Amino acid sequence: MSAPAANGCADLHLHTYFSDGTYSPEELVAQAHRQELRVVALTDHDTVEGCAPTENACAAAGIEFITGTELTAEKDGHEIHILGYGIDIQNANFLGEIGKFQAVRQNRIREMVQRLNEINVPLQAEAVFALANCRAPGRPHVARALVQAGLVGSLDEAFERFLKKNRPAWVPKFKMSASNATELIHQSGGVAVMAHPGLNRSDEVIPAMVETGLDGIECFHTKHTAATAEHYLQIAARFQLLITGGSDCHGLSKGRPLIGSVRLAYEHVEKLKARLAQRRAASVSHFSA
Ligand SMILES: [Zn+2]
Ligand SMILES: [Zn+2]
Repeated sequence: MSAPAANGCADLHLHTYFSDGTYSPEELVAQAHRQELRVVALTDHDTVEGCAPTENACAAAGIEFITGTELTAEKDGHEIHILGYGIDIQNANFLGEIGKFQAVRQNRIREMVQRLNEINVPLQAEAVFALANCRAPGRPHVARALVQAGLVGSLDEAFERFLKKNRPAWVPKFKMSASNATELIHQSGGVAVMAHPGLNRSDEVIPAMVETGLDGIECFHTKHTAATAEHYLQIAARFQLLITGGSDCHGLSKGRPLIGSVRLAYEHVEKLKARLAQRRAASVSHFSA
């Protein structure tokens, strides 16, 4: 198990039911309060819909809130998840761009369902959309719909038999390039952080991502061991990257709720906020020039 920054107070990697988590924003914040977290960031996949309600709930609970999202990107054949923190959630360009990714996700669901139907698994796309009830549906929603329809016995079975890579209903996911994702986050006033690098095993792409503006790296994550965290702390130091951390809690959908199990020290939150302030100042002078 990881034992990262256990004396910290921030969990900067959280999902709600606006992507593939199970908590509402209010439930998430109630859990954050129970865990005595001082700062949270919401990082739903390809959407910022949950940010406004989470911010409101945080304000009521006296918890500091940072807007965020988690984009799926690609670099040299590696799938890379990029966290965007502090983005302006009203930014029209950003909303337009992620709207395209949401449409791609919805089409992917239809394709997966079609492939299931071809092998006589009678799932309907509408059942998945109704269950997901969000703009960024994904494979976990298909798995839950299969369980709900009684077509498989468990989420694991859904992935093992149908949804895992190279299984009959697997459909490759379209991914934007890592540099485009970083640029999109910057244009929206945010900072770009490589999520859970220990899961993607793609250290070799880090220098090129730094060249194209990567701001930080998620050193502390539920699935990072203490040694993995230490490894990425060294990389952060070498490239002068921000250090972030979070539990990647999906509510009750992936076993026990993880919120608060990774606690980032506040000094790292302060550095993140300082970088955000710099970026905003730069974009203001850019637009007034
Ligand atoms: Zn991720
Ligand atoms: Zn995540």
